[in-house]
Amino acid sequence: MLQCASSPLPPPLTVKPRLVRNYLLPFLLLLLTLGFGYGGYLISEGAGTRTLIETGERQLELHARGVESEISRYTYLPSLLELEGSVSRLLVDPTPLHRDRVNHYLEGLNRRAGSRAVYLLDTSGRVLATSNWQDADSYLGEDLSFRAYFQEAVNGRPGRFYGIGSTTGEPGYYLAHGLVHGGKIVGVAVVKVRMESLEERWEKARLQAFVSDENGIIILSSDPTLRLKAVRPLSDQDKERLARSLQYYWWALNEWQPLSRHPLGDGVEEISFPPGEHAGSHKPLSYLMQTRQLSDTPWNFTLLTPLADLRREALMHGVLAAVGFALFAFLLIAWNERRKVIATRLAAREALEQANNALERRIAERTADLRASNQHLREQIRERRQAEDTLRKAQDRLVQASKLAVIGQMSTSIAHELNQPLAALRTLSSNSVRFLERGKLDVASSNLEAIAEMVDRMGRITASLRAFARRADDHGQATLSKAVDAAVMVLQGRLSEVPVALHRDYPDAQLAIDQTRLEQILVNLIANALDAMGPQLDRQLWLEGRSEGDGHYRLVVRDNGPGIPQDARQHLFEPFFTTKPGELGLGLGLTLSASLATAAGGSLSVAYPEAGGTAFELHLPLLPAMETPA
Ligand code: ADP
Repeated sequence: MLQCASSPLPPPLTVKPRLVRNYLLPFLLLLLTLGFGYGGYLISEGAGTRTLIETGERQLELHARGVESEISRYTYLPSLLELEGSVSRLLVDPTPLHRDRVNHYLEGLNRRAGSRAVYLLDTSGRVLATSNWQDADSYLGEDLSFRAYFQEAVNGRPGRFYGIGSTTGEPGYYLAHGLVHGGKIVGVAVVKVRMESLEERWEKARLQAFVSDENGIIILSSDPTLRLKAVRPLSDQDKERLARSLQYYWWALNEWQPLSRHPLGDGVEEISFPPGEHAGSHKPLSYLMQTRQLSDTPWNFTLLTPLADLRREALMHGVLAAVGFALFAFLLIAWNERRKVIATRLAAREALEQANNALERRIAERTADLRASNQHLREQIRERRQAEDTLRKAQDRLVQASKLAVIGQMSTSIAHELNQPLAALRTLSSNSVRFLERGKLDVASSNLEAIAEMVDRMGRITASLRAFARRADDHGQATLSKAVDAAVMVLQGRLSEVPVALHRDYPDAQLAIDQTRLEQILVNLIANALDAMGPQLDRQLWLEGRSEGDGHYRLVVRDNGPGIPQDARQHLFEPFFTTKPGELGLGLGLTLSASLATAAGGSLSVAYPEAGGTAFELHLPLLPAMETPA
């Protein structure tokens, strides 16, 4: 009937093992954050470096051209002297007068050109005239034949030379030109130029730059500490050669000591210097170094661009990338968690809905089952009611039949009972007539009283017949002793035929039952006992009564008869059950007696004493006011 709905179980809310997530995720995130940070740093640094290189190239070009123009400004100056007649004269004829004239000329020329000094050498390298002829450290008369610029110029090549003056100890750029007179070189004109203005210009432009000469020696530098340092390694021979040339006077030529150098492209390097070389720096200083060769000279112009700002910026970008990634990761994790929560909620809701559906299905099934069984029950109830009605009707008919039967039996019994009083009445009445005739009025009077009493009893017997037929609830009252007396009197005829030892052992009591009905019950019980004991010689009948504690009275009618056979015991109170032959028994006596007792609120039951015989126990309610103690 009730079927267990085999609904599929809701999908289990699986929880994935989170070990990986729990333990590795933070490390992974940290690594990724660091990776992103480093990547951001590298990208920013790369891009920044490229921009710096481009900007640097433009700067390099610009300032290299500045240097070139500064140098080329004076290239023509030594050759100018060739045009000056006094110079040729002096070279041909070096008299004091000619010298003096040329000195003046050179002094004026030097002043106008803004150079450091202009002077004239003869072919042996001796200074014939000079613009600084009046100064204490004048070159006049000095032998400068060892100077490379002289050697170049005297051989007809332009002499270009950066060096430190042997007289003044002052650095300068020397330009020399071989003066031709009459087809041959008769002397050498030299111009010394100071180029510090370039350095000042770089400084003003906050530019870090230097110029290195053909020997790799830094001759001009915005940073004074780099001056006269060698940008490439110098061999001992080189050092010795340079020392001998006195090109750098007596300066000790040291190589610079960069911490590291990484070539980044053609003419581009990354270079870093140890801290301390620059005031206030405690960290190594890194530069982007771009070098370009200057035209017309074997010199190189180098631009240094500090990478500190770029690095700082790249670091900031790296940090930003790391923070950005961390934020993104955080948002991703938060989003993922939220997605999982929603998924779990949805799964739970789905499971709930499924459970709900299954429940509703089961409820519907059960309701249907219940409705069916309810219908079934209703039908059964209807059937039972019908059966009950049928039974009640049968019972009613039965009761009616039994009443009629009792009436029949009682009428026989009454007729029988009435015969004796009627006979006695006839005797008494005829005796009374005789006593009246004899004038014995007192005897006649007592006879008449006995007659009246007998007539009353006979009336009551007929009344009981009526009472049976009415069969109403009993609300009457009876005196036990009177009822016993009446019953004995009714059965007087039988008792005289079948003598019985009657033992009365009961306290009198007022019982809540109609007097005649109580008499009728007693008549039935005593008559049955008489019937049972009929064949035997010793007949004992006990009437034993006692008040119960619960407001009832118990009267036991016991005989020493043969008792009731086992198979008959369960049928005793059934209507029409009798063991008596012929018309002697109707099987209604006990049934009616029990029904009379029940109608009065009491009961009738049977017991089988061990000593033998039969005992009927009549329970009847006591009249409340007249309760008699036991
Ligand atoms: P009836 O007397 O007409 O047979 P009852 O209902 O009065 O009907 O009695 C039913 C039967 O119970 C009797 O036939 C008898 O067998 C048995 N019975 C009743 N009283 C006694 C008794 N005191 N001793 C033995 N049997 C009894």
